[in-house]
Amino acid sequence: MTCHNCGGKLEKVITDLPFKVRSDSIVVIRNLPVLQCCNCSQYLIEDPVVARVDSILEKIDKTAELEVLSYAV
Ligand SMILES: [Zn+2]
Repeated sequence: MTCHNCGGKLEKVITDLPFKVRSDSIVVIRNLPVLQCCNCSQYLIEDPVVARVDSILEKIDKTAELEVLSYAV
């Protein structure tokens, strides 16, 4: 798999990423497995991971302005 931005090699990394769920609400998901380009800062989240993130975001308390969750349960 290569980077769609620069064609560089994508490597699997574990990182923390913020997701905006509303205009005033952000969820940080920790220990998220993503594919990151070793040439530029572009990253790609695989479909099964996106699906899981979606289900995590559905379950959170949407009244909180900032929530920090772990991807691995
Ligand atoms: Zn790249």
